[in-house]
Amino acid sequence: MKFTPIILPVLIASLIAIFLLAYTWQRRTMRGARPLLPLLLGIVIWLVGSTVEGLFFNYESRLFWSNVQYIGIVIVPTAWLVFSLYFTDRAAILTGRNIALLSLMPLATLILVWTSPWQQFFRISLVLNTAEAYPFWEWVPGPGWIMHTIYSYLLLISGVIILAQAYRQSARLHRRQIGVMLIGAIVPWIANIFSVIVRSPIDYTPIAFLITGTAVAWGIFKVGLVEITPIIRKRVIDEMQEGMLVLDEQNRILEANPAVLHMMDVQDDVLGKPIAEVMARWPELLVQFQDEVHAQAEISLPMAGQETRYFQISLSPLHNRKGQQTGQLIMAHEITQQKQTEISLTKAKEAAEAANRAKSTFLATMSHELRTPLAAIIGYSELIQEKSELWGYEKIIPQLGQIGAAAHSLNGLIGNILDLSKIEAERMDVVCSQFCVATMIQEVIANIQPQVDKNGDKLLLELADDLGEMNTDQTKVRQILLNLLGNATKFTHEGTITLTAVRQTTSNTILFTVKDSGEGIPNEMMAQIFQPFVQADSSFTRVHGGSGLGLAISSRFCQMLGGTIAVESKLGEGTTFFVTLPVILPTQETAVAQGEPS
Ligand code: ADP
Repeated sequence: MKFTPIILPVLIASLIAIFLLAYTWQRRTMRGARPLLPLLLGIVIWLVGSTVEGLFFNYESRLFWSNVQYIGIVIVPTAWLVFSLYFTDRAAILTGRNIALLSLMPLATLILVWTSPWQQFFRISLVLNTAEAYPFWEWVPGPGWIMHTIYSYLLLISGVIILAQAYRQSARLHRRQIGVMLIGAIVPWIANIFSVIVRSPIDYTPIAFLITGTAVAWGIFKVGLVEITPIIRKRVIDEMQEGMLVLDEQNRILEANPAVLHMMDVQDDVLGKPIAEVMARWPELLVQFQDEVHAQAEISLPMAGQETRYFQISLSPLHNRKGQQTGQLIMAHEITQQKQTEISLTKAKEAAEAANRAKSTFLATMSHELRTPLAAIIGYSELIQEKSELWGYEKIIPQLGQIGAAAHSLNGLIGNILDLSKIEAERMDVVCSQFCVATMIQEVIANIQPQVDKNGDKLLLELADDLGEMNTDQTKVRQILLNLLGNATKFTHEGTITLTAVRQTTSNTILFTVKDSGEGIPNEMMAQIFQPFVQADSSFTRVHGGSGLGLAISSRFCQMLGGTIAVESKLGEGTTFFVTLPVILPTQETAVAQGEPS
């Protein structure tokens, strides 16, 4: 046994291979690492055998270690094929029977190599040439060796073809990795050719295979596939419900998952085809997204002989490491069902709105019809009241007064219902006129004063000097203020009610504030106070009257005049309503945009 420098390359390669095997073994739980282990083991046996053989100079020892190398030599091509199958998600082919079939030839080779009677079938003659400084084998290969070699090359080529296919089909992102593996796989061929041309006493093929093993290990451990191999990614992409399309710079399809093929209703192989060809049925879509790189949109795809399908799609650019755009990613999510629900909901809503308008129209007409007999009741009860004294029926005067009051209250209620129905039936008109704000306020005060006095309240007025004139619907402004002041006195006893009006020059609006020191509004009521028929306490109605329509009407009026209404209140302390109205009635579109009730 003697160390000669000529074995140095295989010795170093052996050490690297052992390290790589140990490294991979430690990381065997990582996906893709386990199928690499047999390949590395084969390479280690081959290299170690080659190194130890190089330490001996006698025939027997060299033959023994040469034969040891064959264990590795037969493992490597088989393990390479197995790895390629695993890596490309074709491991299902590797049934027990297929593994046994694959192992037949390697086992036969080992039997031929290791058993002396059959040795000659493998090597017809074998002589150790010791004439030169370093001994080398001179031998004539037998038919066994030729078969073994052809078989090994077949396995190696199959592995390369499998990886090359994966390279073609995979997204750009994985190509680099598979590309490195492919180059690694081709190195042994070059080494083999090299060994044949330059007749060296040392066979460099196992070193070349070590390069293959290293390239593969690098692909698995270093290129961002530590957690997930391309295959797992591919599987996720294949199984997800979202459609995924990857296009290259020329808008050719690089990747398309089954979901997207199903969405587009195509069965053929679309990889490599231009998107314009695959989506030729929807030319308007192609035009729409022609120059888009970044977009979110809802699209509809009319399907021949089927219902139109709807999708939510998002387009985003894909970049390489240098930041240049290399393609585009399109994700699609089917929303046909939601869309259909939406369409039927819209239809139902439209129908409900139509029904509501019909109801309001009916109410408006009815209210109008109710008012006519009511006017007769009010008129005649007043007339009889006047005549009663004359006729000597003083006793019934209070009852007649009650009839009159009840009829008045009913008249007010019908008036409110009529207003609200008109608003909802969109039949309430806005009549614009120019008027003096202070005068309008004085008229309102004159109207409400008797009620204020009746409740023992004090009404304070704080009017700015520059109120000037307004050009809007005076009747509606008056009604808003009357409603608010009416409520204020209704819910305040022996307290103070303050009406303030200021002109806000920047927004050209007038802010009316109606403040009372009454009972206040409970918190939970505040949100719905402007809804029709809402009252803080319905048992109250009997005491205070009212129908819960006043604020709803006031709020709708504010909206119609392009203004807003808001409320602040503290239970037990009082309530303040704020009404902001434009001095000049805005045009209809702006009124709708500004006038959301608060
Ligand atoms: P109603 O005809 O019942 O007064 P409104 O729409 O005018 O109808 O008012 C609805 C409810 O809001 C009232 O029933 C009352 O509970 C509450 N509310 C309105 N204004 C005041 C206020 N100034 N103080 C206390 N509560 C108020």
